Amino acid sequence: AKADGRGVYRFFEIQMDAEARERRMLEVELREALKAGEFVLHYQPLVSADDNKPSGFEALIRWNHPIRGMVQPAEFITIAEQIGVIREIGDWTIREACMAASRWPNELLVAVNLSAKHFEASDIAAVVRDALAQSGLSPSRLELEITESLLIECPDEVLAKLTDLKALGVTVAMDDFGTGYSSLSYLLKFPFDKIKIDKSFVAALTEDAVARDILRSIASLGKTLRMHITAEGVETQTQAEFLRKIACTQLQGYYFAKPLSELDLASYLLTHFAT
Ligand code: C2E
Ligand code: CA
Ligand code: CA
Ligand code: CA
Repeated sequence: AKADGRGVYRFFEIQMDAEARERRMLEVELREALKAGEFVLHYQPLVSADDNKPSGFEALIRWNHPIRGMVQPAEFITIAEQIGVIREIGDWTIREACMAASRWPNELLVAVNLSAKHFEASDIAAVVRDALAQSGLSPSRLELEITESLLIECPDEVLAKLTDLKALGVTVAMDDFGTGYSSLSYLLKFPFDKIKIDKSFVAALTEDAVARDILRSIASLGKTLRMHITAEGVETQTQAEFLRKIACTQLQGYYFAKPLSELDLASYLLTHFAT
């Protein structure tokens, strides 16, 4: 039994080494990826709940790695935050999304996810102002999505930065609403234009009456606060119909469209906006 135990221990040691090596390799590659032009943005339609027409797109980053293929953000954003390159990646994302949107039909907006670490580490309003100036995109067509984690860490500084951003004329959405601890108090304190209901509530709504009640409450809260309500992760017609009925203003999810590569986006725009 003793020998077995050591054998098992040895196995984990080797595996840990492999994981540590893998992790170090990712870090080195991440630092180079921006220069190598390996990041791409995919764009997922945000459809208006009234008529199912796209009102804009959320930019979602992917790492087009020469060997690993398309790497999803869950696999590299946290590491990028830990090693500090999230700042450069975040700046790039804002510039790239503004350039892309400046080529879309005029009424369409682009939503960009901001990492809390990026937000804290940079003069975000200056970055956004420059990206808007360079692309010529109207500020009203840029929306920034932030999560509650940002608001917990340093509320006063964050409030000042959000106020600077809003002064530029962009809109701000609270992402993943309902998953944090004090979402409600933050809604009152910060100048959000939109609430994005987390997809876990949408996923549960068909089976779970409590989830439906929570969704109704969030929708009426949004109405009271005069904020738009977007539901994300909509995968079925049943979900879409329920969310429409409770007066969500915008819907997003695989039921309507997956995140689109730039090429797929071009044909999507052609079919939806051909003149
Ligand atoms: P998120 O902001 O909550 O984005 C929504 C995620 O749900 C996306 O995953 C999207 O592809 C996925 N999704 C869309 N429709 C459906 C659906 O119907 N069902 C399900 N199950 N999922 C759906 P993705 O692209 O893997 O992004 C994951 C997270 O990574 C994002 O969550 C966001 O927090 C982060 N992220 C993505 N792009 C960026 C970026 O450019 N910058 C930063 N800082 N974070 C990003
Ligand atoms: Ca988002
Ligand atoms: Ca979300
Ligand atoms: Ca999320």
